Amino acid sequence: METAKQKCYDKRGPMLVKNLQARNFEAYYCSTRQEAVEKALSLIPEGAKVGWGGAASARQIGLTDALHDGPYRVIDRDLLPTPEEREQAARDCLSADVFITGANAISLDGQMVNIDGNGNRVAAIIYGPKSVLVIAGMNKVTESLESAVERARTVAAPTNAQRFPGQSPCRVTGICGDCKSESCICNQIVITRNCRPAGRIQFILVGEELGF
Ligand code: SF4
Repeated sequence: METAKQKCYDKRGPMLVKNLQARNFEAYYCSTRQEAVEKALSLIPEGAKVGWGGAASARQIGLTDALHDGPYRVIDRDLLPTPEEREQAARDCLSADVFITGANAISLDGQMVNIDGNGNRVAAIIYGPKSVLVIAGMNKVTESLESAVERARTVAAPTNAQRFPGQSPCRVTGICGDCKSESCICNQIVITRNCRPAGRIQFILVGEELGF
């Protein structure tokens, strides 16, 4: 049975789709992860060179596995054994046909906020790959741009930091200490306000809680 939260997501999702489209993004709302995987695969042409970064939500819904199993040229740096190969894969993603990523937060008026340590993920969102496919759970949606930045900094980043080595304050306490440490994962904070060329960035919003 649909929960109250899912009902709420099913109402907010289509509203956000309209607001994203008004900013020249392509956008779709899918109530479930199964629908989202089907939609994503329908948007990716066979034979496409596909890479990803910061794509916990795409992984969670099974999209990255489906791409490995399908007729695509996949770049998956997490499977590569050496830092040099992973670095090269991050560079290769910049010339991908499709780059898959998540969002740290999206404001209801259609602006996306992402935080990055090395910058490869936000670089690919801004320029390089022919198209960018954002997979985001509706838990990432906030009321305003200000609350989107706050979510990215105080919820997404301290949670994401737990996956990495280093002793940044949030890794120790779970709370952002606004650090300048060498292991800081918040070196780039990017607001993607509109899409140019139109349709280059596509959103699939999923009516579930996904990612950080
Ligand atoms: S403590 Fe540093 S790495 Fe952690 S969330 Fe804050 S700015 Fe980012």
